[in-house]
Amino acid sequence: MAKPRLSFLRGLRFRLTLANGIFLVGLLVFLGLFFRGVLSLILDNQIRDILDEEWYAVKGYLIIHRGEPEWRYDPEDREEELIVKRMQQVFFLADAKGRKITASETFLDLGLVAEPDVVAALASKQPYWLEKRSSAGELFRIRGGMFVDDDNKAYFVAIGRSKAASEAILAEFTRDYQRLLPAFILSGCLLGWLVAGRAIRPVHELARTAERVSGDNLSLRIPSRGSGDELDNLIRTFNSMVERLESSFQMTRQFNADVSHELRTPLTAIRGQLEVALFTAKTKEQYREAMINALEDVERLSQTVRAMLLLSQAEGGQLALQRTVFDLAEVTRDIVDEFQIPAEEARVEVVCESDSAVGIEADRIQIERLLNNLLSNAVKYTPSGGKVVARVNSRGEEVVLEVEDTGMGIGADHLPHIFDRFYRVPGASKEKQGLGLGLSFVAWIVKAHGGSIQADSAVGKGTRFTIVIPAGARAGAQEATSPALQRS
Ligand code: ADP
Repeated sequence: MAKPRLSFLRGLRFRLTLANGIFLVGLLVFLGLFFRGVLSLILDNQIRDILDEEWYAVKGYLIIHRGEPEWRYDPEDREEELIVKRMQQVFFLADAKGRKITASETFLDLGLVAEPDVVAALASKQPYWLEKRSSAGELFRIRGGMFVDDDNKAYFVAIGRSKAASEAILAEFTRDYQRLLPAFILSGCLLGWLVAGRAIRPVHELARTAERVSGDNLSLRIPSRGSGDELDNLIRTFNSMVERLESSFQMTRQFNADVSHELRTPLTAIRGQLEVALFTAKTKEQYREAMINALEDVERLSQTVRAMLLLSQAEGGQLALQRTVFDLAEVTRDIVDEFQIPAEEARVEVVCESDSAVGIEADRIQIERLLNNLLSNAVKYTPSGGKVVARVNSRGEEVVLEVEDTGMGIGADHLPHIFDRFYRVPGASKEKQGLGLGLSFVAWIVKAHGGSIQADSAVGKGTRFTIVIPAGARAGAQEATSPALQRS
């Protein structure tokens, strides 16, 4: 039961809201403290101004005669009397050494100003400010300073005022702010929750679409929101991934269909041969012939299976290249030599034109297989009297291999498909047709070596395959596992 609750807490929306909430609490607490500080400063300044005025007013009413204070005012004047009474309430008089001469009861309760402080204050000639708390907890602001009597003797006079009213205002501000704070935080979090929900909605849409994507439903795409932000980028990446998956599924499906078709044909033929042997053959010769035909089909079948296996291993990345350094021109000449006998039989001329030596670091067996496939196709699809040329040249860091024939050519409709597995151009005579896997292999070998292949053809005139491969081993990084073959 705890699991779904925990997963909610791990959710992006919750975490975004939480982060926003924490930030908001921090910000509001900081702002509260800041404004409280400013308010306290303003209130304190007000009291200081009043005290400053009062302190100077003391000089008008106080006379110190032989160290004794005497207050002078008109007792008939009610206002004056009140002013002096106020001054006397929090009052302290000390001599130049800080010794108490007189102090009001309130001042005694607050605690006298320390003697060294008095001496220092008199020496500085600056107003002396102090805050003190009474035994009842009431805060007072004290203002002291130098007072000179008629005999030019210096004294220290301090008066004070309660800060109870300021403290009450501050307490009220704090109380009100604390009351409002939860409401601020709650509405901030709610807003954060809504905004976070809006921001991650596309992520949910993405997840929902991803859930619906299956082998049968790969045409699904999430529409881009056009905002160009990270989520749009994610949507683009997701869509292109589904696109790649779709083409890969399509290829697999096609491959399965091709394989079943390729296997069914020889299997049907074998079955036919065996039925002939079983039901119609009478003589030993007839049995023999049926068996030979069946064996030929079995051979073709196993060839297909072998080639398919090899190709799927290659494209699945299980066939690692065994690179060695060799002379491609020499290898090409050798293979061209091997083709002389079948070429003579077909009355096709096969020649090799090459630089004296073309060094390459590559998998020799695979390069030989590539040459074999290209040359056998060229000989196969070139009528008698034609010519096949294999050309090898160095071009900077690359090696260029061309196999050109003056054969029947390939129509523009078919040219883009000749590298597909089992693709055979329709129309070629039955005995000429191979498995339709040769060029798929060629394309894989080129790709695995980090090169490119191009086919140019004109029907009735001939075909030219141009392969460009890096001469060094730096192509290794691109060793292909992808079935998407490179054609340029
Ligand atoms: P196959 O085993 O049928 O030759 P490939 O994959 O080698 O299969 O070739 C695919 C198809 O491309 C062939 O069936 C053929 O129709 C066409 N093709 C290949 N090479 C040539 C060529 N040199 N001239 C004309 N057509 C060619």
